[in-house]
Amino acid sequence: SLPNSSKPPWLRQRAPQGEKYGQLFEQMRELKLATVCEEAQCPNIGECWNGDMATATIMLLGDTCTRGCRFCAVNTARTPPPADPMEPRNTAEAVASWGVGYVVLTSVDRDDMPDGGAAHFAETVRELKRRKPSILVECLTPDFSGDLDAVRLLASSGLDVFAHNVETVERLQKRVRDPRAGYMQTLSVLRAAKEAGVYTKSSIMLGLGETEDEIIDTMLDLKDCGVDIFTLGQYLQPTPKHLPVVEMVPPEQFEYWRRYGEEEVGFRYVASGPMVRSSYKAGEFFLEAMIH
Ligand code: SF4
Ligand code: SF4
Repeated sequence: SLPNSSKPPWLRQRAPQGEKYGQLFEQMRELKLATVCEEAQCPNIGECWNGDMATATIMLLGDTCTRGCRFCAVNTARTPPPADPMEPRNTAEAVASWGVGYVVLTSVDRDDMPDGGAAHFAETVRELKRRKPSILVECLTPDFSGDLDAVRLLASSGLDVFAHNVETVERLQKRVRDPRAGYMQTLSVLRAAKEAGVYTKSSIMLGLGETEDEIIDTMLDLKDCGVDIFTLGQYLQPTPKHLPVVEMVPPEQFEYWRRYGEEEVGFRYVASGPMVRSSYKAGEFFLEAMIH
């Protein structure tokens, strides 16, 4: 990522602080939890880990993806190491004894697994809810290659929010995402999850060359699939080998889309800002969405 000095002012990072953040940080070390928040050095950690509904993101199923999207810096391989069968229990135990109120479980794409890892996710959710029923669980999932039985299995595991990102507008899908992903496939995953009666959520990145009309069409398509929560953030090029940024979208424009999404499209909640990531303050936003 860009050094702080060459970023526009709204993208410069502040050092995380706050009492709750400090507590969670200590506990995380003791529990040997690996969070995406920490490992990706997410600039939002100070905000996500503070507040009454602290949010953290945990990665399941390893760090090696079977796909290669052109915006993503994750390692890729055709056959990543096999899933750890103890991971659902161990993760659940650690997260349940940790002080977060909202956890996002996510993973790379595991096209090498017959169900794409859906049962592994589902088991983690069940183990976690059994130990700590009060915790809110979001699964930010791959597309399971469009296997809707896998989607239904996970959506009915007891999770609270099923999130799957469409990432960009329809025209730019091929350019941005791995060719095995796709706009229609993502919409069908979100529709199937919604039919299981859970809250659903999706996100796009701005700054990849999308037009305003295309952003609106994407929002309307997601709304049509029953999506409740929508987020928008700025795309940042992770390394020079990745897709270049076409545009740095100013904060006012993100605010415009937030209002548009809530007032014109009718999402329950929209989080929108240059540094917003799919899981950004997800706990707080979820509570707000429920009040609406
Ligand atoms: Fe963690 Fe996601 Fe928040 Fe970043 S945005 S700190 S990864 S929960
Ligand atoms: Fe990255 Fe997900 Fe694409 Fe894999 S499928 S390369 S983890 S964005």
